Amino acid sequence: MYEFAVTPAVTSIRRRGVEIAEVSPASLGSELELESGDRILKVNGRNVRDYLDFRFQTAGETELVFEVRKHTGENWELQIERDEGEDFGLSFEQIVPRQCANECIFCFCNGNPADARPSLFIKDEDVRLSFLYGNYTTMTSISEDEMGRIIEQRLSPQYVSVHATDLEVRAYLLGIDKARADIAPKLKRLLDAGIEIHAQVVLCPGINDGEVLRQTIADLAAEHPRITSVAIVPLGLTRYNTDKRLTAVTPEFCRQIIDEVGTIQAEFRKTLGTTFAFLGDEIYLRAGRSVPGRSHYGNYPQIEDGIGMVRSFRQQFAALLKKSAGKPQPHCVNLRGTILTGTLFAPVLKPLIENLNEGLGTQLAVVGVENNYFGGDVSVAGLLTGGDLVSAKQRLSGDFVIIPRSTLKSDEEIMLDGMSLAELTIKLGLPVYPFDLKSFAQFLWPRN
Ligand code: SF4
Repeated sequence: MYEFAVTPAVTSIRRRGVEIAEVSPASLGSELELESGDRILKVNGRNVRDYLDFRFQTAGETELVFEVRKHTGENWELQIERDEGEDFGLSFEQIVPRQCANECIFCFCNGNPADARPSLFIKDEDVRLSFLYGNYTTMTSISEDEMGRIIEQRLSPQYVSVHATDLEVRAYLLGIDKARADIAPKLKRLLDAGIEIHAQVVLCPGINDGEVLRQTIADLAAEHPRITSVAIVPLGLTRYNTDKRLTAVTPEFCRQIIDEVGTIQAEFRKTLGTTFAFLGDEIYLRAGRSVPGRSHYGNYPQIEDGIGMVRSFRQQFAALLKKSAGKPQPHCVNLRGTILTGTLFAPVLKPLIENLNEGLGTQLAVVGVENNYFGGDVSVAGLLTGGDLVSAKQRLSGDFVIIPRSTLKSDEEIMLDGMSLAELTIKLGLPVYPFDLKSFAQFLWPRN
């Protein structure tokens, strides 16, 4: 007798239209009697696939016809007249990301422990999220429909993972054949249509460094200013990533890359008026070198990819210190606590906090925490887990603990290993504050 495990072949069926999540009171949407759970199927006869479509198809229109599937199952047609620029007061369901069909040899999904949160295994590759949040896509499986949509709806800029302009090397890195890996015609089409492109290279020692990297940078720079910038970020290996084709990024490798790319950057500043090819902060920190100054980053075109975060953090921190004007602040002298962060950032943060302690009279200590959950060379603060933070318990001092806000999910107080903030608080036996720089400043100056 056999037992059959019945699993659905399709786990999420994409329904027509876009679902309304919320309707603001006293808005045009509520006047139209739209409700959460209703789906807008068409605007002026055109299909609506998500809120970007809704935004595009309603923009600038004062006379509109909506086809709506009410949450009750009824179909409505709404004839609408609105004032120019009048908002509907509607918020919509999140975009369900498209998945990639690559097998990148460095894919972060291969470096997750088997029991990691399911969301860490999502291989999203979606040009809509690229436009909205700066997520990188490889454009290997982009459809004609998506290409047309980027151009028609001006989903610009797009963030594109190039990795190497040498087709053989790109195909090897992405784990796909050359025909699919060939990005040149797609990039050209987007650039010719006026779409701004930011590029990315995940640097894998021995594969796309050296001459391949120099050629990649040169090919991309030949399209400047249409290609605005290139982010060069190091491969990250966890202890679960055992692919023999990959070589770890060492401090020596980082120093070599800084020297090689530094020469090219200096040349670009003269010829293009911008650094153009930016190295990830991690490369400088792992090399034991200080990150470049403010002018190196211009308007921080790749800040979403973490490029220039340390410099920008230092700038904002300096502004914070200025606030204290070097005088001990009465409300701060009793603040004794520990700031936990990743081992990569701890040496950057320590002197800044020491200055703050001097200026404000606070007694804050910085502790760099090893990442045992992912292991390998993972040392950034945002990937610390609850278990890692608990392992630092013996090194805590003071009355509270500050952890990086980025260790928690954006919409839930839960860490990558599934530990909740409440559980962490119990395990550490002290109040735990998840802060970014802004909330840290509010903590120090609650009245501002
Ligand atoms: S494109 Fe991104 S998600 Fe997809 S396999 Fe490559 S690294 Fe992984």
